[in-house]
Amino acid sequence: MSPPLVIPFFIPHQGCPHLCVFCNQRLIAKQTSETQKFDNETERLSDAIHTYLQFKKNRSRVELAFFGGNFLGLEKARILTLLKAVQPWIRQGQIHAIRCSTRPDTITRQVIDLARPLGLETVELGVQSMDDQVLALAERGHTSEDTRKALALLKENGLKTGVQVMVGLPGDNDCGAVRTAKELSELKPDLARIYPLLVLNGSRLAQWYRSGRYVPLSLDQAVTQTKKMVKIFRCSGVSVARIGLQATPMMDDAGQMIAGPWHPAFGHLVLSALMFDQACEQIGTLLTGRQGIGESGEKKSVVLQVHPRSLSRLQGDRKTNIDRLTQAYPGICFYIERVDSLDIDKVHARILNV
Ligand code: SF4
Repeated sequence: MSPPLVIPFFIPHQGCPHLCVFCNQRLIAKQTSETQKFDNETERLSDAIHTYLQFKKNRSRVELAFFGGNFLGLEKARILTLLKAVQPWIRQGQIHAIRCSTRPDTITRQVIDLARPLGLETVELGVQSMDDQVLALAERGHTSEDTRKALALLKENGLKTGVQVMVGLPGDNDCGAVRTAKELSELKPDLARIYPLLVLNGSRLAQWYRSGRYVPLSLDQAVTQTKKMVKIFRCSGVSVARIGLQATPMMDDAGQMIAGPWHPAFGHLVLSALMFDQACEQIGTLLTGRQGIGESGEKKSVVLQVHPRSLSRLQGDRKTNIDRLTQAYPGICFYIERVDSLDIDKVHARILNV
């Protein structure tokens, strides 16, 4: 089944009483309000829906997403205005559900009772980390316990849940990222999104970076940490809905995105790294009990089978995975075979001529 068409409607920093060290949303919110096409928010919402519905194609499901701020932290009247503005499309069957991102400490039974009858189906929590020291350093203003309580309350009330986490937070490290993924996996959210922390101009993190107090992760470090988190989520059945930030003009603007592991295809890098690990595991299993393979002087051949849509993931960015495999196993020639029946995330290895 094709994934739903998600219509994003951004409410930058609105409804948020905090200012995390990495956030420059107040700056964005200010710029947005100056350049908004329409003064009336419901008109902008309606405009976005009309525009996106043109790209629905053959997708059977459409969801409207309030992203970018703390949707459930908006004033009650504003939440109702926005949700009611979507109702005509819901009644006509053109929009099937509403989702939003919000802070864990915003979730209460009252706000759930307000929004759920109007089509709110999925709530994505900006969790970032399950380490309270890391949360405090980032000045998130909530704790891991807020996340536990929020997830429990959302589930109790029949809502789907998502968790958004970050790699590279100040005071965090490889082990911390792994612990966060493990703790969240035990809480069984429906989906996870993982983002590398970038240093945005106008944030306090930018000052810390300039003064040397904060050193961002390198791209390799960010890929490795994210890869570990993805493995944990996948093993627990938590779907990883997104890895890395969407490319926007801001990311290419050195004046705005001043440091950090930015790559326009960050998710692809992580998924390629996962494929590489899987290929190595498969080759390791093949070689078990076959000592001497490739050592007789004659090169042996291994076929790596992959779903056609995952070919570029297996090859890696600029075919780096194949180069690394060739270096790691100098006695083996690798061939790739596309197999439609394989799972999209799987690679299978077999020996060709041994
Ligand atoms: S909770 Fe979100 S919107 Fe609020 S300051 Fe932090 S990052 Fe920005």
